[in-house]
Amino acid sequence: MTCALDRAFRRDFGHRGAVQSERVDIAIIGAGPAGAATAIRAARGGARVVMFEKGAHGRDKVCGDGLTPRAVGALDELKIPLDDAHRIRGLRMIAGKQVRELDWPTTDRFPDHGAVWPRRRLDAALMDAAADAGAEVVYESEAEPIIDSGRVSGIVADGRTVHADLTVVAAGAQGAVARMLGAERVPDEPFGLAIRSYAATPRHDDVHLEACLSMQDEHGTAVPGYGWMFPAGDGTVNIGVGALSTMKGFKKLNLNTLLESYRHQVRDDWDLGPNLERPRAWRLPMSTQRRHGPGWIAIGDAAGLVNPMNGEGIDYGLESGILAADLFLDDVATTPERYDRLVGERFDAFLRTGRRFSFLVGHPWILKPGLRLSVATDAIANITLAVMGNLVDNTTPGAAGKVMWAADKTLGLVDPILRKTRAAA
Ligand SMILES: Cc1cc2nc3c(=O)[nH]c(=O)nc-3n(C[C@H](O)[C@H](O)[C@H](O)COP(=O)(O)OP(=O)(O)OC[C@H]3O[C@@H](n4cnc5c(N)ncnc54)[C@H](O)[C@@H]3O)c2cc1C
Repeated sequence: MTCALDRAFRRDFGHRGAVQSERVDIAIIGAGPAGAATAIRAARGGARVVMFEKGAHGRDKVCGDGLTPRAVGALDELKIPLDDAHRIRGLRMIAGKQVRELDWPTTDRFPDHGAVWPRRRLDAALMDAAADAGAEVVYESEAEPIIDSGRVSGIVADGRTVHADLTVVAAGAQGAVARMLGAERVPDEPFGLAIRSYAATPRHDDVHLEACLSMQDEHGTAVPGYGWMFPAGDGTVNIGVGALSTMKGFKKLNLNTLLESYRHQVRDDWDLGPNLERPRAWRLPMSTQRRHGPGWIAIGDAAGLVNPMNGEGIDYGLESGILAADLFLDDVATTPERYDRLVGERFDAFLRTGRRFSFLVGHPWILKPGLRLSVATDAIANITLAVMGNLVDNTTPGAAGKVMWAADKTLGLVDPILRKTRAAA
């Protein structure tokens, strides 16, 4: 390890004994799944880690709470027990009158099950694991990077100045910190918006996620996105809808109305109780202008790592967080550049295909027949599931891998036309 991990956690005292500044190996801004993954992995590897979270311990995050097998694999890698989560066997896809209930694909790479784990509890478990590993976790404290001549040298938070060899931006969908670092989303690239609530249901222990792909707004315009029922196993279901910015009329889309109309659609089948909390919406970032620079990297949502095909971001947060820690423990000096390259090798091609796909389905006349095709038979629906969930096994790609490859090539060719003819918002 070439980083200064053996350096004792130092507090430099001024001549009058007042604390001037502190020094750690890694300072993390944000304790969502991405930041917590870095904290857990790096602290277990012996690094001195401090993580600042502006929310309280046990804060909620607006989310569908769905974990794909890929995300369960990442939690397994972090040795996080999933006893508190509700185990999920597969996905029920609904497109118009077509209903297909599928098990998750079995691959050597990922577990054969997913889960639903309400974020209040999942994130608390991850934050606690970070603290157990030896990271200092500071709650209700908003942090900002210190930028010295273009280099990030640490963070300031609540009057504390913490210098670090690496600052990890894990602050979620881009905001103030991203603006300071020029790491905002790319204006021409798509993003998503989604809204969710919880409701009581006797079907809370259903073992399938449910996704309704054929959503329409109040004007009858097809919505590229889906409505979901994610049973939490605790008496409730997470109910929500999400849409992509490539949709015609996106700027005027009323998510509350869309959620209400979806609730009406599923109410009887799920014997649904009233909303247990006011529906809340949030952004799904799908690009970033930069995800590294001298002394810093961005991970998870802060790096725009959300799958445009299903809105999944927990796994990408966990995976990018683990990768960042591993690279740091290996060699701190080269971490930002290597992180940018390796996270790109793992996700960029897939996410680029997903963004191109989102321009394609932004056209209602493509979306409707496309949906019918995507669930036309069990075999095709299985491919749809594997591709959308990024569950393609690269070593033995099979049909889904070939579809992914062909989609990448075809969408690459038609991308300029799709962008030019994008459905006007
Ligand atoms: C409605 C909706 C439904 C979704 N459903 C799913 C789903 O079912 N499955 C899935 O995988 N993904 C889903 N996502 C995406 C998922 O929620 C995110 O991708 C995921 O939370 C990203 O994790 P993160 O750690 O990068 O960011 P976050 O979880 O957003 O965590 C960032 C943390 O940083 C903190 N923070 C921000 N700024 C500061 C600061 N300056 N100082 C200190 N702390 C700060 C925030 O308080 C927050 O706790 C959904 C998103 C939405 C909006």
